Amino acid sequence: MNVALVRCWITGISVTLEEHRDRLTELDSVIGDGDHGVNLVRGFTRAALELGAAPRSDETVGGLLDFTGGVLISTVGGAAGPLYGSAFRAMGTALGDTAETDEARFAEALQAGLDVLQELGAADPGDKTMVDAYAPAVAAFRDTVLAHGGFLAAARAAAEAAETALDTTITLRARKGRASYLGLRTIGHQDPGAASTTLVFRALADTIGS
Ligand code: ADP
Ligand code: MG
Ligand code: MG
Repeated sequence: MNVALVRCWITGISVTLEEHRDRLTELDSVIGDGDHGVNLVRGFTRAALELGAAPRSDETVGGLLDFTGGVLISTVGGAAGPLYGSAFRAMGTALGDTAETDEARFAEALQAGLDVLQELGAADPGDKTMVDAYAPAVAAFRDTVLAHGGFLAAARAAAEAAETALDTTITLRARKGRASYLGLRTIGHQDPGAASTTLVFRALADTIGS
């Protein structure tokens, strides 16, 4: 992973979110307030635009992810803005001042993002939040790296794990965030945040594989 690929990843996220905006809106209309797709598209589009606007020679992988997190915090709003934003900032901090990173370091960065997400939102796996997709994705990424699978295989395993976990969120009752007010009525629907997290990991796999 290098600075050019970070740019591709963030752009890829903005494109796939735009493509799936209506589905995310629909999901968040059923168990929330319907703004998840619109909010995230706004944030990642802004981040992609700003990253593309002024490439500098001293850029680092960590710096670009940290910057992206800051844009998300200031433009997305709702529950997801600070959560995604803080996770990206934590990834950036974990990767630090390097123009390129390998899969082992990236696995640690993903874990740092998850740690912050859980610290901030206090959600555990099973609470029907983005953690339900993020946690298995991080685990699959790390396990593939430990088995010497390489960056692309790790990213693909992470995306697959998130997609599988997203289906499982249908069976769960929301215990965190706005959806938790609906209690048992949230059963039978995917969690919007888990759906967007799945797109974030699929975009990573597509970026590395391109
Ligand atoms: P809001 O609910 O403020 O409108 P969004 O619609 O953008 O925010 O995001 C909703 C998503 O945020 C949920 O589907 C869920 O995945 C995630 N979420 C909400 N609260 C938490 C939390 N405490 N921890 C982790 N994720 C959460
Ligand atoms: Mg919402
Ligand atoms: Mg909202």
